Amino acid sequence: MTPRSVVALGGEGIGPEVIDATCELMIKAGMPVEIMTPPHGEPAIKSHGHGMPDTTKRACQSADGVLFGAAGRSATSAVVGWLRWEMGTYASVRPVKHYAGAASPLAHPEGIDYVIVRELSEGLYPGREGELADLARALPDLRDKFGRRVGEYGAGRFAAKVVTQGGVERAARFACELARGRKARGGQGKLTCITKSNVMPQSDGLFQHVVADVASREYPDLAHEHFYVDDGARRLIRFPRQMDVVLTMNLYGDILSDLGAETAGGLGMAPSGCYREGWAYFESVHGSAPDIAGRGIANPTGALLSAAMMLDHMKLAAEAERLEAAVARVYRDGKTLTADQGGKASTTAFAHAVLEAYRNS
Ligand code: NAD
Repeated sequence: MTPRSVVALGGEGIGPEVIDATCELMIKAGMPVEIMTPPHGEPAIKSHGHGMPDTTKRACQSADGVLFGAAGRSATSAVVGWLRWEMGTYASVRPVKHYAGAASPLAHPEGIDYVIVRELSEGLYPGREGELADLARALPDLRDKFGRRVGEYGAGRFAAKVVTQGGVERAARFACELARGRKARGGQGKLTCITKSNVMPQSDGLFQHVVADVASREYPDLAHEHFYVDDGARRLIRFPRQMDVVLTMNLYGDILSDLGAETAGGLGMAPSGCYREGWAYFESVHGSAPDIAGRGIANPTGALLSAAMMLDHMKLAAEAERLEAAVARVYRDGKTLTADQGGKASTTAFAHAVLEAYRNS
């Protein structure tokens, strides 16, 4: 089998710890991958004068798969900035799935299995912020719902939220295709849209209406519903089994995917894949976790399951399924779990247990 080229970028904090453990597993398991680790982040600033050198960008663009650890301070935010904003990845797919044995705070997490699609390219990200006085000068007639002009607020700052028809359409189609694929494998065939359109009828309202339009016109075979984000957050906790594919705006998706991850078993377990047409990269949902970095205790499950998503993307579906099943088995056995799961295993001990389960499957 032709080996797939993979670029692994550890990032910072626990990023390199979980990515190293994941890469070691892929190699030792005999998967057909060739892994490159080009310079990025702080070391690249010293050697190349930039956190994301051109050679590293080219390697990512031409690789079959890109696996990222976690961003932290400015050096690695240049990496995630490039992977998201410059590469134009617009759909962050974040599975929320409970594995038996994982430490969910819910009494009955069994059967939680849905996907959050976070629109990744618009909304309040990447920050467009500034002084209110500048906004008042540029838009002197901009008023709030109660007729007050921005210039009347006093000194302060603003952030601009952007929603475009085209941006929502492509995210909606992506989420609907995902729901259709899940339906073909026995899923509910349902799209849940989450916004705050009651308070922001222009921006969030556009998101809600474009999603409803795409879903009803182009995907009549799917069920479609909408909730305001406060109610949506509650439902993800109270009725997680009613969810299938949840499509939401950038900031809400950022927050709700941590919430969903926690209900399923913990933030350290949550994977993601960030897609655009013809290219994608994969990363855990968690960040650099400076409070536990360097201690070898981070849970590598998010990185391992992100690698499984990457293997699937690289048309190594059998390896992807086998890796996910191996992770599930280690949770089911419950003997080699990391501290966040109530165990004592190190990052590498957990990954070795997954490797053993992979080999024995
Ligand atoms: P975080 O996700 O890094 O950590 C939140 C909490 O979860 C911490 O207590 C941490 O110890 C725990 N945790 C996270 N991953 C874990 C794992 N694999 N195993 C065990 N415990 C784990 O969020 P934060 O502390 O708010 O942010 C730290 C830094 O990460 C910030 O600089 C932030 O901007 C960045 N960040 C980056 C990304 C990304 O790269 N995509 C995502 C979120 C946060």
